[in-house]
Amino acid sequence: MKTEFSPAQLADPDIAEANKILRACVHCGFCTATCPTYVLLGDELDSPRGRIYLIKEMLEKDRPPTQEVVKHIDRCLSCLACMTTCPSGVHYMHLVDQARVRIEKEYARPLTERLLRAALAWVLPRPGLFRLSMIVARLARPLAALLPAPNEAAASPNLLRRIKAMLALAPGSLPAPGPAGGSVFPALGARRGRVALLQGCAQQVLAPRINQAAINLLTRHGIEVVLVKDEQCCGALTHHLGRDDDALARARANIVVWLKEAEGDGLDAILVTTSGCGTVIKDYGFMLREDRDFAAAAAKISALAKDITEYLGSIELQPAQQQSDLVIAYHSACSLQHGQKITHAPKELLSKNGFVVKDVPESHLCCGSAGTYNILQPDIANRLRDRKVANIAKVKPDMIAAGNIGCMVQIAGGTSVPVVHTVELLDWATGGPRPGLN
Ligand code: SF4
Ligand code: SF4
Repeated sequence: MKTEFSPAQLADPDIAEANKILRACVHCGFCTATCPTYVLLGDELDSPRGRIYLIKEMLEKDRPPTQEVVKHIDRCLSCLACMTTCPSGVHYMHLVDQARVRIEKEYARPLTERLLRAALAWVLPRPGLFRLSMIVARLARPLAALLPAPNEAAASPNLLRRIKAMLALAPGSLPAPGPAGGSVFPALGARRGRVALLQGCAQQVLAPRINQAAINLLTRHGIEVVLVKDEQCCGALTHHLGRDDDALARARANIVVWLKEAEGDGLDAILVTTSGCGTVIKDYGFMLREDRDFAAAAAKISALAKDITEYLGSIELQPAQQQSDLVIAYHSACSLQHGQKITHAPKELLSKNGFVVKDVPESHLCCGSAGTYNILQPDIANRLRDRKVANIAKVKPDMIAAGNIGCMVQIAGGTSVPVVHTVELLDWATGGPRPGLN
């Protein structure tokens, strides 16, 4: 794609990066076929190619974002299916991330929307506040029936519709909190390695059992696990809301504590059980590339970050304790398959450990979770969830496995089939408790 940035514009490293990305696009439109919003809405401006044009216009002409640009960028899930499909290697993620930052800085959203976004950015990365908000949401749930139903014709859902979506996501009960930061779990038997495990924010409130399963599995296989003290939210939630100052501050704070741990007692990897977080931590090197004080450290941390299944694939797991004939529908989270290009490892691990693993039809399409998307765009998100659940039902599973808490909550909202994390099944197969609680 031809671009016409001025030399002065190109002196800005972000614009130079955008220019590189835009020039890689050859307008072929292959990406439209796998874009969930284009598949659902059929509007070119809700396709990757359409959004790329909108972003190009905004950046090149150095215009403030218009309502139209904001509407179509807001509808993007950042699922990155377009990146998997694109034959020209267009790095759509870095382009849309940049567009979201500009929108956040320069576009005046209606007051209620600003307040909602500010509340999400404040509450979600703080587990204590998030827990409290889930308790309040649970109590307020009966009020959901009074709030407006989905309206597919609306250009943008209103506040009440979004509140209804939030209430629907609140769980019926909350488990007790898991272990605190600073905890160390020694390897059982001879130590083969030492890793940090990201504590996560929403996940540690909604499903601490996932990291517990990871700890059990890893220590059983000779890996010492540390929950690093003073670790924060990885920044993914605010990054996707375009609030990069917050996201980068969190990234820097994490880099400091992780590096200290790595240089102290040593770390072979920083393991992540929430693939949405993993994708962002692996991008810290890029996000902080212009920061003289942090660029090298960020690249080092990104190189240490691994999805739990990536790491488990590199160590020998003990033979499965029991042969299970359970049929597992494997839901490939977008952040894992498109963001991190991890597609086979989770399924191979499950198969090797005695499960009958089935691919879900249309597995490249997002389930609609996408960070805060299912709150901010609940109508599109619900349609994607229903489509995902219908596709999952086609393989008649006993359980559904996924590697991302957002997807797990989203899918569980539309099915009675238990949804578990891949690592819970692997823990069970190698001697841990049977999972299966939604
Ligand atoms: S990230 Fe997903 S929703 Fe956004 S343009 Fe790409 S394929 Fe479409
Ligand atoms: S597939 Fe890639 S090159 Fe083709 S239009 Fe989409 S982003 Fe551009």
